Amino acid sequence: MLPAPFNFECIVCGICCQWGGWVCLYPEDVPRLADFFHLTPQETADRYTRHIAAEFANDQSVSIVPYLALKNVGDRCIFLEADGRCAVHPAKPIHCAESPLLAEFLLDKEGWKAFSGLCPGLGRGPLVSARAMRAAMRRQSKRDLQYEADLAACDWSLARLLNLVLPEPELIPDLGLELDESAEA
Ligand code: SF4
Ligand code: SF4
Repeated sequence: MLPAPFNFECIVCGICCQWGGWVCLYPEDVPRLADFFHLTPQETADRYTRHIAAEFANDQSVSIVPYLALKNVGDRCIFLEADGRCAVHPAKPIHCAESPLLAEFLLDKEGWKAFSGLCPGLGRGPLVSARAMRAAMRRQSKRDLQYEADLAACDWSLARLLNLVLPEPELIPDLGLELDESAEA
């Protein structure tokens, strides 16, 4: 079930950029970040990302999906400035631009509880309606399906999909998210 409609306005405090998780990139994030830094995609991947293999498990199956994820420095995203601002704000990853309208918050009760306990932007700004939440869930689902289809067409090789040289991926065990996907409809 989606959370009740809520008011939200990001006050750019950076709290959600320093909680030890990771930001996974979609393929289109890489050239955007590369252009921002005037680097090649390979240099961008080498400097700022790590290659992970994320495990997703449910009662029936376990799947492993490779991603490029932003590096952290301690618990902080590598792009988080000392004053809480994002160093790549105009080119930030889709995941960050869509936050908090993400399945890991809106479709996971524990995720939403954790986010709403730390984000000072909740309760301010315009109302986020159930319709806006459902639209965001559909966008994310479409992006994820396209990503998986593109990976499958490359034999699940992220290096081949991105045309990059990547190190062996680091396995990230299943986080036990319990997404209520019926709420997407
Ligand atoms: S914690 Fe909330 S207000 Fe702070 S940067 Fe993240 S989304 Fe914005
Ligand atoms: S890219 Fe920017 S918005 Fe995204 S987690 Fe890093 S500092 Fe935060």
